[in-house]
Amino acid sequence: MAQLVPAATRFGAGCGCTRRWFVGGAATFIALPCAVPARAQTSAGPIPGIDPPQLEDLVIGSRILAELGVLDAFGHVSMRHPGNPQRFLMSRSLAPALVTADDIMEFDLESNPIDARGRSVFLERFIHSEVFRARPDVMSVVHTHSAGVIPFSVSSVPLRAMYHNPAFLAAGVPVFDIRKDFGTTDMLVRNREIGRALAQTLGDKPVALMRGHGDVVVGPSVRVAVFRAYYTDVDARLESQAIALGGEVVYLTPEEGAKADATNLQVMDRAWNLWRARVAPSLGK
Ligand code: MN
Repeated sequence: MAQLVPAATRFGAGCGCTRRWFVGGAATFIALPCAVPARAQTSAGPIPGIDPPQLEDLVIGSRILAELGVLDAFGHVSMRHPGNPQRFLMSRSLAPALVTADDIMEFDLESNPIDARGRSVFLERFIHSEVFRARPDVMSVVHTHSAGVIPFSVSSVPLRAMYHNPAFLAAGVPVFDIRKDFGTTDMLVRNREIGRALAQTLGDKPVALMRGHGDVVVGPSVRVAVFRAYYTDVDARLESQAIALGGEVVYLTPEEGAKADATNLQVMDRAWNLWRARVAPSLGK
């Protein structure tokens, strides 16, 4: 697996280094004349106690979902802190396609940034903190406004598993309606109370839709959460098409879904490696 390496080190006044990290193998490694060997710098990342390679999937995952059209200027990907389950990591407020390791910030489970340093944070970070709090099994959370799922967030027609790749949907897809407990809002998960209600609606499922808004997708790793966010959107688009055909639609049963999902988890790195190859060049810039 390719490692995150320092792509550029600029020395300004007082030798204040600004590092950029990108994923690359031998073909994309840039060796710079530097007084400090590049290898020695890999332990000094944007978050104390975390080596930049540990942030690789989070950076790559954000860019993959943008590349695949699941995220646009909005939406975000997070991961639980690998060394502290009471913390999580996500980008500062930034379009997902632009995220680098330097943009990753650390938060507690009340969504307070540990070391903000003046950076702006996502308004809807409470989606992530409350899901991480409610679900010890979850290591990554994705929030999207993907176009495919919006119709199912506002329709009485449930989102269901159409085929084997989104088999995880066969477990059922709850819909969170913010109006139910919070009345008329701007639809955003802007505090802990709304985040907690969303996490309760999600329950033990991998995906919940958010009425008039989007979805929240979780997984035991960033890779699985990204895979699920993408295939949730694909499934929704295909279900709309199948319904439009006008005949009876046959969905995967929960049992078929469980079997297919187990197989998917064994082979999903094939998709990840393809997607990573598509976005890796963008990280060199
Ligand atoms: Mn949102």
